[in-house]
Amino acid sequence: MTNPPATVTMNNGVPLPRLGFGVFLIPPAETAAAVTSALEAGYRLIDTAQGYRNEQGVGDAIARSGLSREDIFITTKLVNGQHGHDRALEAFDASMQRLGVDVLDLFLIHWPLPMFDKYVETWRALEGLLADGRVRSIGVSNFEIEHLERLAAETDITPALNQVELHPEFPQDELRAYHESHGILTEAWGPLGQNKGILEHPSVVDVAEKKGLSPAQVVLRWHIQLGNVVIPKSVSPERMRENVDVFDFELDDADMETFAALDVGRRLGPHPNEFDLG
Ligand code: NAD
Repeated sequence: MTNPPATVTMNNGVPLPRLGFGVFLIPPAETAAAVTSALEAGYRLIDTAQGYRNEQGVGDAIARSGLSREDIFITTKLVNGQHGHDRALEAFDASMQRLGVDVLDLFLIHWPLPMFDKYVETWRALEGLLADGRVRSIGVSNFEIEHLERLAAETDITPALNQVELHPEFPQDELRAYHESHGILTEAWGPLGQNKGILEHPSVVDVAEKKGLSPAQVVLRWHIQLGNVVIPKSVSPERMRENVDVFDFELDDADMETFAALDVGRRLGPHPNEFDLG
């Protein structure tokens, strides 16, 4: 890899790679090998979650990598069934054991679960972990503006980032603008559209062909130019290398307009106000 992912500085001064490797749906037994390939390809941000059941594989690959701990940024997320102050702390401890690290880089609340109304209490537990030095940064995932507003009104620390579904057919303009005005980074999940047609869209294919790049590369570059942090997933080492190689070309204004026209408001995943699965 010639150009390693650039970093962006979060609202607490901590640097975060602009592009990382997501491990959703990678079977536990295959995760260590996939993360090893990703680290070899140059990824330095690994995005896992308690709910993915593959933190152990992430930890094993990192331990074997020979890289310094401070050169790797690990994100994990609190599973839905563990909302609440004490339950969140217990779940955090279990993650740390599986990951095999003393200090985590970023801990997120995976979903807000507003129907249970515990995300404010849960956020206070994350604030405690930060104060105790057990995690370097804390953030949220799948939070809508109303949930962020409640955290702002009732708690002390602004999330470093909000990881949300975001791709060309669902660019989240309003939420991104809110994040920008409140110092919260936008991290995109499903950035390539989860294999549901976005990479085959004729407009995306046109931009890619014009530039001699792959559809995935131009989509990831679109994210970077919007200011998003992206965490594409692949188990193919070749695609891993392709996806991380997006830092030495640019989309011009016309390309960005082509992408803007793809917004059809199509969510691929559940609405955060409805999702309540453990
Ligand atoms: P994604 O948009 O990254 O799509 C992944 C799929 O795209 C792969 O399985 C593969 O089929 C295809 N792909 C990857 N690279 C390609 C390439 N170069 N060319 C062609 N096809 C390619 O979807 P995702 O995995 O759902 O999202 C990325 C990461 O975001 C996850 O792994 C996970 O870490 C995170 N995530 C978080 C949440 C959340 O609720 N916070 C939800 C879903 C995913």
